[in-house]
Amino acid sequence: MLPAADPVSLIAALVVLFGIAAVVWLMIAAGLRESPGACACLSGANAALGASFLLHEALGLVSPQHYWWSDLLSLIAFALIRLAVPVVGERPAPWRSVGGATIAVGIVVARFTDGPDTLGHKLLIYGAMAALAMLAAVDAWRLLRARGLAPRAALALAAPLMAVGLLLLARPVEALLAPGRTADIDVASDFNIAWLWASLVLALLINGWIAFLLLMKLVLEIRRLTERDPLTDALNRRALSEAVDAEHSRQMRGHGYALVLLDMDRFKQLNDTLGHAAGDAALKALVRVLRPCLREVDRLARLGGEEFCVLLPHTGIAGAALVAERMRALLAGYAFAWEGQAWTLTASFGIAESSAADVSAAEVLRRADQALYRAKAQGRNVVQAVELEPAR
Ligand code: GH3
Ligand code: MG
Ligand code: MG
Repeated sequence: MLPAADPVSLIAALVVLFGIAAVVWLMIAAGLRESPGACACLSGANAALGASFLLHEALGLVSPQHYWWSDLLSLIAFALIRLAVPVVGERPAPWRSVGGATIAVGIVVARFTDGPDTLGHKLLIYGAMAALAMLAAVDAWRLLRARGLAPRAALALAAPLMAVGLLLLARPVEALLAPGRTADIDVASDFNIAWLWASLVLALLINGWIAFLLLMKLVLEIRRLTERDPLTDALNRRALSEAVDAEHSRQMRGHGYALVLLDMDRFKQLNDTLGHAAGDAALKALVRVLRPCLREVDRLARLGGEEFCVLLPHTGIAGAALVAERMRALLAGYAFAWEGQAWTLTASFGIAESSAADVSAAEVLRRADQALYRAKAQGRNVVQAVELEPAR
């Protein structure tokens, strides 16, 4: 059973809802520097939909022969929704094709159909809007997939837009199935009441859904900023510390881990000879060169200056030695150059594995640090380990 309501009250409710959403999106566009273009598109789409329902002849503001103003505005709204999806994903939007199609359909609706109650009008205007909504849904799905989302999650996120497309298609389909009853939305039929209620619910859902997506994007960006070193994009000391502590507590359940501490050799000399900018470029190059040595589960962090640490979960000292040796050789063989001047980058490595006797991860790090000190003392560009004392 649907809650009782007359079409005019539901149309008025839609005007209020779209009006509020238009203002809220405008405020978000002005206040939030994240995706202002997309927020402006969404504000425009809501404003156009609100104005479209406001100009519906049922509310008495325009005379019945000017019904096409309302249609034109809804068409513009769906064109804006179609364009907002690539804008959110920072992709080029198909302004020309969407604009051209919208103008063409708008002209045909305004000049050549005989009023909102006819089948031809419904097929054209709702068909065009449904096509725009579905294209937006397909585009959203593609964009989410390209961002690495699993097919099911991408489908779930694109589904509300597809639902809008189907809701829009329902009108011409109903008109085709029951040609005698091709009434406009202001006629109090069960179908119209259900359709208007569904429009209200979907309008709320879509606006909330896009706001949620933008919020998630912002949260992910903030999280990335708090976890990463801005120069090299490696993890920062705090993020590594959290990862190592988590690994250490897992170790209590029998999964050992290893730490590789590395410090670039004679880095001050590089800075003094080639300049600080060259030093920065060398730090970035180190991260770029060493990343391919690591697995998905490994964590590379910059502890500060030219000192880095790698967390290797489920790894013993032999595995860590292999990884560290591979990293050492790769870095030493890398052809770094700054403004035409070649410079060999090397680093010294200290490795340590965790043991059940370690009270905290700090003890493992201390052993890795001792090993690094030994590597420096041995002349640099080597890997050293501090073995665990045999249990007595
Ligand atoms: P060692 O082989 O014993 O490690 O010698 P080193 O020169 O690498 O070590 P030292 O600690 O003497 O010098 C480290 C230098 O790293 C000093 C500092 O100016 C430089 N440094 C620290 N952070 C940065 C940075 O973010 N960018 C640049 N370019 N240099 C940095
Ligand atoms: Mg150094
Ligand atoms: Mg150092």
